[in-house]
Amino acid sequence: DACLERIAAVDDRISAYITVTADLARQQATDADRRIAAGDASPLTGVPMQIKDLLCTNGIATTCASRMLAEYIPVYDATAVARLREHGAVLLGKGNMDEFGMGSSTENSAFFPTRNPWDTGRVPGGSSGGSAAAVSAGAAPFALGTDTGGSIRQPASFCGVTGLKPTYGRVSRYGLVAYASSLDQVGPIARDAADCALILQSIAGHDSRDATSLPDAVPDYSAALTGDISGLRLGVPSEYFAEGMDAGVRAAVTAAIDQLAALGAEIREVSLPTTQYALACYYIIAPSECSANLARYDGVKYGYSHQGDGDMWEAMERTRQHGFGPEVKRRIMLGAFALSSGYYDAYYHKAQQVRTLIRQDFAHVFEEVDALAAPVSPVVAFPIGERTDDPVRMYLVDVYTLPVNMAGLPAMSVPCGFSNGLPVGLQLIGPHLSEDRLLNIAHTYQ
Ligand code: GLN
Repeated sequence: DACLERIAAVDDRISAYITVTADLARQQATDADRRIAAGDASPLTGVPMQIKDLLCTNGIATTCASRMLAEYIPVYDATAVARLREHGAVLLGKGNMDEFGMGSSTENSAFFPTRNPWDTGRVPGGSSGGSAAAVSAGAAPFALGTDTGGSIRQPASFCGVTGLKPTYGRVSRYGLVAYASSLDQVGPIARDAADCALILQSIAGHDSRDATSLPDAVPDYSAALTGDISGLRLGVPSEYFAEGMDAGVRAAVTAAIDQLAALGAEIREVSLPTTQYALACYYIIAPSECSANLARYDGVKYGYSHQGDGDMWEAMERTRQHGFGPEVKRRIMLGAFALSSGYYDAYYHKAQQVRTLIRQDFAHVFEEVDALAAPVSPVVAFPIGERTDDPVRMYLVDVYTLPVNMAGLPAMSVPCGFSNGLPVGLQLIGPHLSEDRLLNIAHTYQ
């Protein structure tokens, strides 16, 4: 009830929710009370949550913030959602986002933009902007977001909350509406690392319904929060402090790294030379996968369908013309071009080769250090409308988050102070399946 009241009090200013499931939440909370009384509770039983609208929820609209799926009601839960429900978490509603996860500011939602609770004239980041804004505004204790190139970490950093993008394959993608399948991951956005540990505990682990989900055992993440990081070798990649970053972001992140040193970490400067190619490489690979994944929205199988007098081809064309927003169309065109005969080798194949180099860069530095510390984004939350006319300027906001997805690594965004009164995020990056280590570094710092 407190969460529903809070949503009613703030969401007309923040617009973090596409759907609020108030009646269902009350019902689920009553069931949770019963479970607690019967001694059958987990730490998440009765804890309310928001779910990004890119994750399927049985019987509840899952729009992906697109006109294409505005009326779509799935008949099953995504695995991550189902696992949280099994633990007794209570669904408050579905989070606003950039259409199909494509964007960095939540301004690409087909319905309305979300506003940053710290300054409602500014964006909350994206694409999981509704999730980060809801947690930041107290309109959900935690949320599930998704991260293809930064969509958990960057909004978490812009809104001053903690976000974790797990190792690719750590959390099942079953029921996550696909954007770029080799990059997409589901993860928590919450107030701190201890909460993220509890949430990851319940959603991680193998799922036979996702062929890319990892079989590795899930460690006890809460037990890993020892508060001791003495002797930790922490690398600081020089390429992540390039020209053009806000001086306030640099100062806050540098101060956080000093603090980690004071807590016992041994700081080493390292180099990730292929960082400069990551943005170009991502914007070939992600749109290519997007163009294939979004081919399914043809007006026949599900979602919006344009019914006119013309033939099948016209129906398909009009469906996609009216159903998709401008950024989604741009990505589909970029991807279809990069994959087309004659250009495939020059663009897509080349990008895959560069992706291998990026992965190798990380593998080399992780021979020397246990984790990396860097900024999440070179900037803080920017004014609504500032970057909408210039896609490349929008893409640049994610320059420090994209490489992690190219390499499939886990990474976190941890609040580390302010620049001009707006939150700054410290990014912690680790080798594959080092979520327990990252959570402990974040917890020790917090
Ligand atoms: N901003 C990036 C993009 O638009 C990343 C989005 C995401 O992680 N879903 O593709």
